[in-house]
Amino acid sequence: MQLETTPETGADAAARLRRDLFGFDEYRGAQEDVIAATLAGRDSVVLMPTGGGKSLCYQIPALVRDGVGLVISPLIALMHDQVRALQELGISAAFLNSSMTAAEQREVIEQLRSGQLKLLYIAPERLVQPATQALLRELSVSVIAIDEAHCVSQWGHDFRRDYLALNELAALFPGIPRMALTATATPLMRDDIAVRLELNSPELFVSGFDRPNIRYAVETKTDPRRQLLAFLGNHRDEAGIVYCLARKKTESTAEWLRGQGFDALPYHAGLSAETRSKHQHRFVHDDAVIIVATIAFGMGIDKPDVRFVAHLDLPKSIEAYYQETGRAGRDGEPADAWMIYGLQDVVRLRQMLDSSDADKQFKRHEVQKLDALLGWCEVTECRRLPLLRYFGDEKLAACGNCDNCSAPPATWNGTEAARKLLSAVYRTGQIFGAAHIVDVLIGRSTDKIQANNHDQLNVFGIGSDIDAQAWRSVIRQLVVLDYLKADPARFGGLALTDKCRPLLRGETTVQLREERKQPALRKKPARKSGTVSDSDRALWHALRECRKELAKERDVPPYVIFHDATLMQMMEYRPMNRDALLGLNGVGPSKLDRYGEAFLEVIRNAEPIA
Ligand code: ADP
Ligand code: ZN
Repeated sequence: MQLETTPETGADAAARLRRDLFGFDEYRGAQEDVIAATLAGRDSVVLMPTGGGKSLCYQIPALVRDGVGLVISPLIALMHDQVRALQELGISAAFLNSSMTAAEQREVIEQLRSGQLKLLYIAPERLVQPATQALLRELSVSVIAIDEAHCVSQWGHDFRRDYLALNELAALFPGIPRMALTATATPLMRDDIAVRLELNSPELFVSGFDRPNIRYAVETKTDPRRQLLAFLGNHRDEAGIVYCLARKKTESTAEWLRGQGFDALPYHAGLSAETRSKHQHRFVHDDAVIIVATIAFGMGIDKPDVRFVAHLDLPKSIEAYYQETGRAGRDGEPADAWMIYGLQDVVRLRQMLDSSDADKQFKRHEVQKLDALLGWCEVTECRRLPLLRYFGDEKLAACGNCDNCSAPPATWNGTEAARKLLSAVYRTGQIFGAAHIVDVLIGRSTDKIQANNHDQLNVFGIGSDIDAQAWRSVIRQLVVLDYLKADPARFGGLALTDKCRPLLRGETTVQLREERKQPALRKKPARKSGTVSDSDRALWHALRECRKELAKERDVPPYVIFHDATLMQMMEYRPMNRDALLGLNGVGPSKLDRYGEAFLEVIRNAEPIA
């Protein structure tokens, strides 16, 4: 009798590639469904959080289908790393962009014509050139992936004009599945993306926005450097990003951190292109570099093992905050998103908005966005819930992995205090800043108090039952809650808003968040350096060294060799032969051949577990 063998389906082939080529035991989230839709020739809009695994969604279909897969990406620096990573897996991939010599470009074009390439990364401005389009028409294209697809929407914050022309792909490649992928898109933007790219009844895949491995924490800014140092105590020998608002501050902070024994480098748009690329390269290729940066840094950084993102100044919106903190922990291992903020930040950001000459409607929109972030800083519930709600993701259970969950902040009835404060602001003429108002409330007789005869007012000293720091917190919260506004024309002089009336008349009350005296206790999440024995630690370092050497040799970032998570499995299971090594998540045959022996040798030489 002859055994019937069924031919391999697209889904089978995809699963085989996932397992044997990429070395992943399972799909993550929506990957399987996205791949199925693409293999069936359908267009899609794919929303996945950073680190969710978007690349696999187009890489696998490109490998399964005939022809070359086009990946449109705005970030030239990133293309190089992604292509190198694919080549390390034994996949024929290349990129085309303006940074290449004519000869290099010719070579890629040659490979394309002869059908050798499975994946081509290309920048949007390049794609719309007539010469490129003529070339592409000659080819058989398997799938078109438009990465960072939110760039096509004017509702977003990274709008790029080149992206608008990508609708031409619809006519150029009828019947070829097109995928729009992004990590940030509100429901409004999703529709906009589909319309502008002229996608054909696209299937929508929305993975939750949650990044469960990221721990969110916000502290009141009291002594920024000391606070940062305390925070970094948990992150020695790890890579991270520290965001500041001003260029100067990135430089002074990086220098100070170097003085504290950290390998810290500044990054901002005012540095030379050469310095910027050198610092970025150090960050990506070394294990434990801290980049102190303005928002100029981060777009297109694909480093999966960033262990923390710290904000020394407030970002502009929740979108910006989520995108910046989203750069932490892409490998799924525990990571920290930590921020400090104070009244000064609130005043400064509102002033910046006020003095910008954008149109009124735009400004109003920006003010709302800033207010949403400020409100979030002051929340007393689990931080993750409102964050996800903001992106339309309803979650009901507290996360257990944020500062508010670990140490729920107390609240108090601040009605009486607020009234005293508002009276003090009112009686002094609504022109003085926070420091002076606090002096009036606690009855401190400074020169400024005397010069203005404010010690003669009946509000002088009416708040001596509360200390200065607590008063500053009350002021900050009342500004955030829109009872007080800091007048930009008067250097942050505080004034009452219309919202005060019912409060002053006793018709409403305010509930305030109690200031933590001590920063919330931060428990180090259970991960490698926290919990390992000495022999494990020695092995861990040896594995990292081995990876670093291989990475140097091949001129790729260490994570392209193996992720931290894979090294951790090596430490835990101590595989002694090729088969055992192949069983680990992240090890496929191609990597096994390339690096297997080197790592096996390290493991065999390790001290046995005590
Ligand atoms: P995104 O582009 O969505 O930010 P990536 O495609 O870069 O994310 O994937 C993030 C990381 O997760 C990558 O380093 C990748 O190797 C890993 N990854 C992707 N899919 C899987 C999977 N199914 N199993 C394990 N790891 C995965
Ligand atoms: Zn929480």
